[in-house]
Amino acid sequence: MKEIKNFINGLYVTNVSGKTYEKRNPIDNSLIGMVYEAGQPEVDSAVTASRAALKGPWGKLSVVDRCAMLDGLVAEISYRFDDFLQAEIADTGKPAHLASHIDIPRGAANFKIFTDTIKNVSTESFEMRTPDGKAARSYGVRTPRGVIAIICPWNLPLLLMTWKAGPALACGNTVVVKPSEATPSTATLLGEVMNKVGVPPGVYNVVNGFGVNSAGSFLTAHPGVNGITFTGESKTGTAIMKAAADGIRPVSLELGGKNAAVVFADCDFENALATVTRSVFENCGQVCLGTERVYVEQPIFDQFVSALKDRAAAIKPGRPFDADTKIGPLVSKIHQKKVLSYYAKAKAEGAKIVLGGGVPDMPDDLKDGCWVEPTIWTGLPESSSIVREEIFGPCCHIQPFDTEEEVLNMVNDSPYGLATSIHTQDIGRASRLATQIEVGLCWINSWFLRDLRTPFGGSKQSGIGREGGLHSLEFYTELRNVMIKY
Ligand code: NAD
Repeated sequence: MKEIKNFINGLYVTNVSGKTYEKRNPIDNSLIGMVYEAGQPEVDSAVTASRAALKGPWGKLSVVDRCAMLDGLVAEISYRFDDFLQAEIADTGKPAHLASHIDIPRGAANFKIFTDTIKNVSTESFEMRTPDGKAARSYGVRTPRGVIAIICPWNLPLLLMTWKAGPALACGNTVVVKPSEATPSTATLLGEVMNKVGVPPGVYNVVNGFGVNSAGSFLTAHPGVNGITFTGESKTGTAIMKAAADGIRPVSLELGGKNAAVVFADCDFENALATVTRSVFENCGQVCLGTERVYVEQPIFDQFVSALKDRAAAIKPGRPFDADTKIGPLVSKIHQKKVLSYYAKAKAEGAKIVLGGGVPDMPDDLKDGCWVEPTIWTGLPESSSIVREEIFGPCCHIQPFDTEEEVLNMVNDSPYGLATSIHTQDIGRASRLATQIEVGLCWINSWFLRDLRTPFGGSKQSGIGREGGLHSLEFYTELRNVMIKY
């Protein structure tokens, strides 16, 4: 039986309480291993080790030496690519083609982008006259913030964790990571890689467990933590922000969304269709940037609904390593229950079910997995909970519209503001809408196309702060001002 431990001060450790929980494979509900849940004593040890490491060899490394060590992680993750791939797939059930093209390579690349950033960033400098006729010069200095708590979700486990650990470590901080209880494996495995490349003990720590009354809340409440970066649901973000208020610790929050795709009649139909198919169904709809509201201009509404139905009907569920598998299961039984409750609610609210709405018929050995059908609805009012609430499954509601003003109002009538995509050949209209739609990320004739130097984050209830390139330094460093009187 596989044991998934905590990684504290360079060592794999169990716990004082003896508490473990089962980690099951979402494709068939088979038992993968037992996870040692970190309690207060383990979180205390991890934060203590992390604080000590700030003053130890890690804190004394030059930026160049620190970055060279972190660049070594990229090579070592690539060397152990298959171990990371197997671990991520066992935890999530996602198709191998997805994990091997996105999760693991991007998970590794997140270290390199930020070592490049921190080595090349400059700070401002100003000279001024003083009242006594002499002069003074101010200049900025970036210092690490300290111990960073990283709280992660389960949808892109390694990728989203290193999106935070990468810049945090490049900036000279130390980290305590709390992976999702549903996906503990790759963050824990990364401890071996840290040791291999010589990252000193205490710089990277992992505490496994749940949120409330477990590793998550013990970590966010810990007074030894200097900043908290979180990706997950908006209501969890609220709880974390409250915990961060004690001690006035800064937070960076990447939260939920109810993202729209807007398809105008003049779009490149095939491109819009292929892009919306991806944005709705990729990773079984478990992508924070994914589309759950599709708005299609009236003249092509019927044609688009029918074409999307055909595309979605061809998305074959199956085992991660089967060549023809196009979609995996949801991450857990808990999440499957949540998504299916929305499928039932759509029916009860009177939606027209264009496709899906239930559990697919799977072979006997996969029947106990967390499968749901790709699902498309039409016919609901904008006030419906299906159109307003984040479901986080492979599903969307499609609404027709007549005018630009009408669709703008519908898209903005949401408490969320994470991402949108606009499909049109009229670039003037697309640019106009891109500034009027209240989101942090807007794609035109594309989706999930990322240049890692650019800001990433949400507005409204989708988050606080921006990460990516230079923008990550806002959170992971303290910018000090030094003034010299000549
Ligand atoms: P979640 O909020 O349930 O859990 C996220 C993490 O928070 C887990 O590790 C969990 O154990 C921990 N947690 C829960 N309660 C806590 C508490 N009170 N204190 C401290 N930690 C706590 O989210 P999830 O279900 O794992 O992930 C799905 C959500 O993440 C969706 O809402 C999705 O939109 C969002 N998400 C957002 C982005 C983004 O970049 N904006 C990216 C990916 C996922």
